[in-house]
Amino acid sequence: MIQLYIPLNFLGVIYREIKQSLTDMDRMFSLLNTEKEIADSPNAHPLQIDNPSRGPDVRFENVSFHYESKREILRNVSFNIPAGTTTAVVGQSGAGKSTLARLLFRFYDAQSGKIIIDGQNIQDVTQLSLRKAIGIVPQDTVLFNDTIGYNIAYGDPSASFEEVQEAARAAQIDSFIKHLPDAYQTQVGERGLKLSGGEKQRVAIARTLLKKPAMLIFDEATSALDSKTERAFQEELFNLAKNRTTLIIAHRLSTIIHADQILVMDHGQVVERGTHLELLAAKGKYAEMWQMQERAGLD
Ligand code: ATP
Repeated sequence: MIQLYIPLNFLGVIYREIKQSLTDMDRMFSLLNTEKEIADSPNAHPLQIDNPSRGPDVRFENVSFHYESKREILRNVSFNIPAGTTTAVVGQSGAGKSTLARLLFRFYDAQSGKIIIDGQNIQDVTQLSLRKAIGIVPQDTVLFNDTIGYNIAYGDPSASFEEVQEAARAAQIDSFIKHLPDAYQTQVGERGLKLSGGEKQRVAIARTLLKKPAMLIFDEATSALDSKTERAFQEELFNLAKNRTTLIIAHRLSTIIHADQILVMDHGQVVERGTHLELLAAKGKYAEMWQMQERAGLD
């Protein structure tokens, strides 16, 4: 009994770690079977996306959520991401930004309110179809101790080598890979090549592009990038989000100035919303954050 208990408990710990960091969704699928906290409803149906090439319409309706009963993390959060548009969420650390993504991916269920994708409550659809429709580029990408080609192909194991290369090209990492000693066959991870944070993120982008999700969640890394890398990164983000329903959890305001809508979160509530220019003109919290980042950039 004890022998059985320890490995299961260990897997539970891994599952929670992964869930917490929104790290690697696909890896999580295999672990999901070991600890199912969220179950499909008996009548769950596959999520229907009206226009997959544009992405779905996503709505949060009065969503309230807590991890622990005494601490409300989201309070009555409502917003809409129209199909094919980009919404960015900003706010101080701990405001509840990543929690929105965790709920959308159904790692947890909200205690009240609804999350609706193309008219379907996510609690009524199968988790498999929900997670297939959403691609996440996480803050911190997990790489497997395998080749760089394998690490990209993981987004769609049935993809051909040409498709893997095409995704790598779109994520602007193909030429870097071609110059490695064994190109796509180069080993990465603990026993192989160590990639920088930016390179890892490009692998994650290529992996996600290969998956061709209808909707994209981009969890921006907190670490500062130099301005050249940041410009390249902004372009990638822009290309990735084009014509696809996208949610960006942002730390650097400069990366999201073109978002169709920016939500400002504070203590679990959406306190401001609008475009970059509208929010600057409103001279509220967002304008304050923008000024602070501008000042920090000048130092
Ligand atoms: P950051 O910008 O630092 O990534 P965030 O706005 O994304 O922060 P969340 O990760 O959504 O914040 O967390 C919101 C709050 O919920 C935080 O106070 C955090 O400590 C708490 N929290 C997050 N995960 C859990 C958990 N599994 N159990 C209990 N509390 C949690």
